[in-house]
Amino acid sequence: MKITIVAGARPNFIKIAPIIKAIEKKQNEGATISFRLVHTGQHYDKNLSATFFEELNIPEPNCNLEVKSGSQSVQTAAIMVAFEEELLENLCDLVLVVGDVNSTMACAIVAKKLNIKVAHVEAGIRSGDMTMPEEINRIVTDSISDYFFTTSTWASENLIQYGTDTSKIHFVGNVMIDTLYQNLHRITKPNFWEEYQLETENYIILTLHRPSNVDEEQFLNKLLLAIDILAKDKKVVFPIHPRTKAILGTSVLEFKNIHFVEPQGYLAFMYLVKNSFAVITDSGGISEETTVLGIPCFTLRENTERPETQTIGTNTLVGVSIQKLEDIYSSFLENGKRKSGIPELWDGKASERIISIILGEK
Ligand code: UDP
Repeated sequence: MKITIVAGARPNFIKIAPIIKAIEKKQNEGATISFRLVHTGQHYDKNLSATFFEELNIPEPNCNLEVKSGSQSVQTAAIMVAFEEELLENLCDLVLVVGDVNSTMACAIVAKKLNIKVAHVEAGIRSGDMTMPEEINRIVTDSISDYFFTTSTWASENLIQYGTDTSKIHFVGNVMIDTLYQNLHRITKPNFWEEYQLETENYIILTLHRPSNVDEEQFLNKLLLAIDILAKDKKVVFPIHPRTKAILGTSVLEFKNIHFVEPQGYLAFMYLVKNSFAVITDSGGISEETTVLGIPCFTLRENTERPETQTIGTNTLVGVSIQKLEDIYSSFLENGKRKSGIPELWDGKASERIISIILGEK
């Protein structure tokens, strides 16, 4: 079994790390399975890409398509053209894509048109929000995949509603959480910990990169001012995504509590999250990690494709509203942490299940 694994962006790197480990384990047990790793180059900044390969011990990609940035269509098209050439030169039995970025959809289409089977890891999740490029990527990828690996029974149900053959749907758990469990013992204090006088639970982590929060500079500045005030005696550590940084430009206002830092590597970021008082974010992946770590998470979005982080986990969907954030956060300060749990099969073994299924063992 020859698998081509595709990864293009930060959350992809975190998801492929345990899958590669599971393949290597099978190889050591004597299974006939090999992989070729293709980096599309969608994220290319060192701290969104190379750092993750180093820290998570992901092997050097066999090939980097180096597509870099572009509009949605320019980037998707560039990935398709380059990936078709790569696949024709290196034919395989299965292309494995993860998540919901442009690389996920573009490479799935290319593989399918070359009659190569496609496996989609994190299939079936839906926000219902067609203004999100990720939602379009999910729907297109799930309309042509051959293996659907899901993180929840809800995601499996979504696929069934779309008419997906149930024999192709496999509820396996969450590879992002595999990575979390595999690395929790390695997490490390960031180098600014002392400088900013951070202590366990005396700070909030903030991440923002979705267009609805960051594309309008005026709104973004208002949001940051509101967070600076609601934090009161807590510090706010804000690893700023390049997309958000580009919008703020040089016009960054003065804040009492907010510390702007570079996007963090995985080990420092998870250290920061695990020891934080709370997280304010518009990321989907972070709402999964905070669920497992039991850290209160406030999501600045109108919808989520990961409802289990709300119903079972620690996530509260705030909406894109400063007023709602202020109200919800102050009620959290009054009432404290909610009781929460860990979703089914988020046990660190999802990747092993995936590889067993691909090898036809289960
Ligand atoms: N992350 C990180 N450093 C940071 C911010 C995020 O390592 O400074 C990791 C974190 O583990 C998270 C993942 O990147 O799960 C999510 O990335 P992003 O917010 O880009 O993607 P999304 O979850 O929104 O798709």
